[in-house]
Amino acid sequence: MTKTGKPACIHVADILLGSYVSGPGRRNVVFVQGCSIRCPGCANKDFWEPGVGKSCNIKQVAKRLVSGDPEGVTISGGEPTDQLPAVLELCDKIHELKPDMPIIMYSGKHACDIERMHKELLGKIDLVYADPFNPKLAKTEKERGSGLVPVGSSNQQVVHISGRYNYHSGVRSTPYTTDTVFELRVGPDGTLQLSGFYDEGRVDECRS
Ligand code: SF4
Repeated sequence: MTKTGKPACIHVADILLGSYVSGPGRRNVVFVQGCSIRCPGCANKDFWEPGVGKSCNIKQVAKRLVSGDPEGVTISGGEPTDQLPAVLELCDKIHELKPDMPIIMYSGKHACDIERMHKELLGKIDLVYADPFNPKLAKTEKERGSGLVPVGSSNQQVVHISGRYNYHSGVRSTPYTTDTVFELRVGPDGTLQLSGFYDEGRVDECRS
């Protein structure tokens, strides 16, 4: 905690710079560590356990997330609302550095719960992709690539907080249009990092 009572640190599982599969345009993404929702079929099970990721200084994370002049920042997980005070502080730090930086959040909470948080999120987060992943309603890679909503299952909804990404409002016009549904990065040590939305079996395919 800082002297003002605000959180100084956030538990982070990973940071991905320059992703095209986490919302409109080129985005820097933080995956927070810890998820209490635990949807069946979740692709990010490594991010479930709370407190095991890196405890990172929020200011430093914000600096990384605005680096390289991205279209915006995406906060994913894990479940960002499990660390809501730290996530909101992260948004404030991002906006201190880049006041107009759009921020999108993924949450497994139901859209109605996100709407109840509207006041807390207002001025900090522009849009939330909400609702738990449902494997019975999972989209195929093709459906994900052709849709405007980059989510894993068709029950998941978009909650517009600011209207900035509401293309029907005319406020902003950078829709999510990409054929890219997943990204595979190979680290210098040969480690594989797969992100985005992909069909079951894709991980094994990439390893082989
Ligand atoms: S909310 Fe996200 S990270 Fe948590 S279990 Fe569901 S899909 Fe996985």
